[in-house]
Amino acid sequence: MSGLVLLRHPSSLEHDTGAHPESPRRIVAIERALSERDWLGWDVRESPAAARAAIEAVHPAAHVDRIEALSARGGAMIDIDTIVSAGSFGAALHAAGGAVAIVDALLGAEGAAAAASLHRPPGHHATAARAMGFCLFNNVAIAAQHALDAHGADRVLILDWDVHHGNGTNDIFHARDDVLFCSIHQSPLYPGSGAASDAGSGTGEGFTVNLPVPGGSGDAVFGSLVEHVVRPLARAYEPGLVLISAGYDAHADDPLAGCAVSDAGYAALSASVRAMAGELGVPLGIVLEGGYDLGALSRCVAITLETVGSNGPVVAETALHPLAAQARERLAGGHWPALG
Ligand SMILES: [Zn+2]
Repeated sequence: MSGLVLLRHPSSLEHDTGAHPESPRRIVAIERALSERDWLGWDVRESPAAARAAIEAVHPAAHVDRIEALSARGGAMIDIDTIVSAGSFGAALHAAGGAVAIVDALLGAEGAAAAASLHRPPGHHATAARAMGFCLFNNVAIAAQHALDAHGADRVLILDWDVHHGNGTNDIFHARDDVLFCSIHQSPLYPGSGAASDAGSGTGEGFTVNLPVPGGSGDAVFGSLVEHVVRPLARAYEPGLVLISAGYDAHADDPLAGCAVSDAGYAALSASVRAMAGELGVPLGIVLEGGYDLGALSRCVAITLETVGSNGPVVAETALHPLAAQARERLAGGHWPALG
């Protein structure tokens, strides 16, 4: 497959969190694993800083100003998890810029088939007005909004397979039907949101799909939810772009959560989303979120890029797990009769 674009930037190493699981070593490990394999044939580019307008299409100017000011005065602890250092504003601008740039590569004249934005800080816990959960700006939300605003996309599907609920993305698009947000996450776990009953509000009712799973869930659960819930939802929704909030902290080796996805499980998830975008005839964008075991993270990012970049990866037959069957029944009784 041609048209594979990878966005990265050295500023990701300048977001100094101290002794913290979300550390620059994550990016060092990922880039080492990829560069050893010649970046798996992906076209590697440096991310621009995001235009202020692209960020402010999601976040109020006051939020952007606050992160900039905290960074300019040398940093601060926003909450017990969330740190700003002198280099954080620059890192966050480029993390958002990478997410915007993948959308431009996918939906612009270049027409790339797949693109990945591999930066830190991650983004999916950042709400419009609040940095939290290691996240300053919501990179994937900025990317989705940019697809709608700058490229005339009518609808964007975001699948968040990070083990934590993507509360920020959930809230930003809660009352809207032009972004379908699907999240698979361990529950209970930080940040505590993402109940199955939270399905959006107003015109967005039905367009937030929360798929909480118990601790210990592994390949069978995650794979079945993507194949038997998210893929049929995507067929019914017909988005013009698929974005993945790609966290790797549902891995069995991850120190921050209790799920049990294996390397092979991430290969299967990656094959599923590649096939999903393929059957929709739309491009696929990957935005890095969490993942805190350096070995699992670096191996599984490489697995995703290798799988997404291969020509027609094989999607293994996936059994319908009881949790997926329950979710289908619930959704079919609501806004998604096609899942019945
Ligand atoms: Zn996470």
